[in-house]
Amino acid sequence: MAAPPTWLTLDHVWLPYAQMADAALPLPVVSASGVRLRLADGREFIDGISSWWTACHGHSHPHIVGAIQQQAGRLSHVMFAGLAHEPAYRLAERLAAKLAGDLDHVFFSESGSVSVEIALKMALQYWRNRGEPQRRGILALRRGYHGDTFMTMAMTDPDVGMHDAFRGIVPPALLADLPRDQVSTMVLDFLLDREASELAAVIVEPLVQGAGGMRMHDAATLARLRDACDRHGLLLIADEIMTGFGRTGSLFACEQAGIVPDIVCLSKALSGGTLPLAATVAREHVFAAFLGSEFERALMHGPTFMANALACAAADASLDLFESEPRLAQVAAIEAQLARELEPCRAMPGVADVRVKGAIGVVELAAPAAGLRPAFVERGVWLRPFGNIVYVMPPFIIEAADLRALTSAVCEVVEHWSRNQRGAAGAGDVV
Ligand SMILES: *Cc1c(COP(=O)(O)O)cnc(C)c1O
Repeated sequence: MAAPPTWLTLDHVWLPYAQMADAALPLPVVSASGVRLRLADGREFIDGISSWWTACHGHSHPHIVGAIQQQAGRLSHVMFAGLAHEPAYRLAERLAAKLAGDLDHVFFSESGSVSVEIALKMALQYWRNRGEPQRRGILALRRGYHGDTFMTMAMTDPDVGMHDAFRGIVPPALLADLPRDQVSTMVLDFLLDREASELAAVIVEPLVQGAGGMRMHDAATLARLRDACDRHGLLLIADEIMTGFGRTGSLFACEQAGIVPDIVCLSKALSGGTLPLAATVAREHVFAAFLGSEFERALMHGPTFMANALACAAADASLDLFESEPRLAQVAAIEAQLARELEPCRAMPGVADVRVKGAIGVVELAAPAAGLRPAFVERGVWLRPFGNIVYVMPPFIIEAADLRALTSAVCEVVEHWSRNQRGAAGAGDVV
């Protein structure tokens, strides 16, 4: 292993979710293409988690690179108030066409957390505009994660444990269990009967709760949640930031339950993992509540870099690829291979669960495990277990042999951990 490049020091850069007192130097990546990351010293890694769940087409896909280059030569960015550009307007039209029902009104921003903040603003102001300003509460689900900004921290289950330092600063959302069975459905109904007149919306990560532990629920559960919102007259916000764009097997997770949420949040894979971009998309009736002769009814939001032209051109190119290449079939093949190749972990002592949904494969350990990450680096794969979760979330273009390398690494590392574990071992790493 060569010495790290001279620019790589921690004198000035503050890393995410890291204790800087003893943070390891990150790996210096000089280029990436397809599923491979290349390091300064020539080593290569398979990106097994699509760089925080973004790079759905792999890295440096020529179609997206070309679109960004062309756009950069013409127009990188202009403010989005009073000025317009084709990539954003095209993208909005295409997203509206791909999303179910009358999810037709797209508000752009530049990160997932901000798109959730905007969704919450929309929900609260929707009720205010309709003469029910007392509806200010949001119901969120246990094990949910919705971002790191203040209101999104409030929507995140405190037990997910990423935001302990801010407990008491943001008022926590009302929390409920997903209506997975008859009892939890009754409990949810009871809660909504009591609280609905003060609630604006329910927020959910459809089918897979990501950073809260890669927990999966079935389409019927999601349909029951939609049904509960309808019966109690609440808006349903679907945070598809992780699940959107094919990850769970359909273009959007909500499709599998046949439901149309009132507001959808998109980000992560929206630009194919190339540039920061997010969108909050509202249905017709939500949008209509903001129309009127009084200016105060308008949505008061406008990020400086909203609808950045480069990011929108990248997202348009990403949608081209979903149309021209067999992404959903690739996800189905990944799902089958993950299910087959992770199955042996189930019998290992200390493994609590093995589960797969679309291009997400999870081995859940019975106890949090810190320190597994270096074992993956040694094996030439880029995986980042957190808490008690070891997971694989590859780019959809991954070939069977590379996916096999990822699943073999998971089985080996988990088996090694399984043989050597001595009771619970601390708190584990974070996302
Ligand atoms: C990543 C994520 C967010 C936050 O997005 P950022 O771009 O990191 O702000 C919100 N919700 C879900 C479900 C996510 O996976």
